[in-house]
Amino acid sequence: MRLECVVCGTELTARSPGATGPYPICHAVPCRMVLDQRATMGETAFARHLHWRAKNTREQRSRARAEDERLRAWTVAESAENTVHWAAVESAWPGHQPDQFMRLALPSGPARQRKLAQRRRQHYLDHLAQVIAQAFLPGDEVPPSDTVAVDARSTLPGQVCALCRGGCCTRGGDTAYLSADTVRRFMAQQPDLSPAQVLSAYLDRLAPKTQVGSCINHTAGGCALPREMRSDVCNRYLCDSQKELRERLDEAPPLLGVVVVQRRQDHWSRHLPERDNGIVGSATITASGISPWPGNS
Ligand code: SF4
Ligand code: SF4
Ligand SMILES: [Zn+2]
Repeated sequence: MRLECVVCGTELTARSPGATGPYPICHAVPCRMVLDQRATMGETAFARHLHWRAKNTREQRSRARAEDERLRAWTVAESAENTVHWAAVESAWPGHQPDQFMRLALPSGPARQRKLAQRRRQHYLDHLAQVIAQAFLPGDEVPPSDTVAVDARSTLPGQVCALCRGGCCTRGGDTAYLSADTVRRFMAQQPDLSPAQVLSAYLDRLAPKTQVGSCINHTAGGCALPREMRSDVCNRYLCDSQKELRERLDEAPPLLGVVVVQRRQDHWSRHLPERDNGIVGSATITASGISPWPGNS
């Protein structure tokens, strides 16, 4: 007979710890916590509680498995479609050398702009006032100032982000990941600024219009903040496509360019089942710039 955890249904062997007794239990802490409650409940109340917890746990597991399955199918389908599209772009490109170009899939940042709402500006101001006050408290160490290094090997990473239009900036909200550490790092480079001047430096960079549904500093021209004023999160974050690109730049033969397939959704929404994440364009990027593929509809 199959031996399983009475809460989550994980299969147990006769030698698994917890496998003996009327309530076989796996090693997971939440499952053990359910069983621990037996000591404080009557048998009937515990049986009801166990039934309810087991039902919930198994339903959650089943939903998670279905979601994993959906994501796997989604990845396979998008990869196959990307491959067809990359090949079409490359075949229309005379002299294309596959070993000196790489294929990348990109999300899309928001294309539309909207006037910056006063409510968002106030929220940003409140957040800045709080982190600046924290940064000026005595006793905290100044973090190292090497967090704004830019990849100087190639213009390709910057061009890729430009084509994407900040597809990962859409979670920046009204606080832009700015923290007391960011302010301390900025202050290490600008030690003469007062707290009020630091606040002005950030507020003065707000643009009158921002990209719809994105970070308060996200403008049509990219981030309104210079790198030394951005958070470590912003300066360090690389999406998978950017990681692949940086790794490839370390390899031989030298990379001449990338062939891009771009999809509709931003980085964070691209898996959502209710969103259309179809291909919206393709392009090649080289040192001389971005060339949209003429076959784009
Ligand atoms: S890091 Fe990736 S998702 Fe973010 S802007 Fe660059 S290419 Fe787009
Ligand atoms: S601060 Fe700049 S880089 Fe960071 S999320 Fe906002 S727009 Fe993007
Ligand atoms: Zn269990």
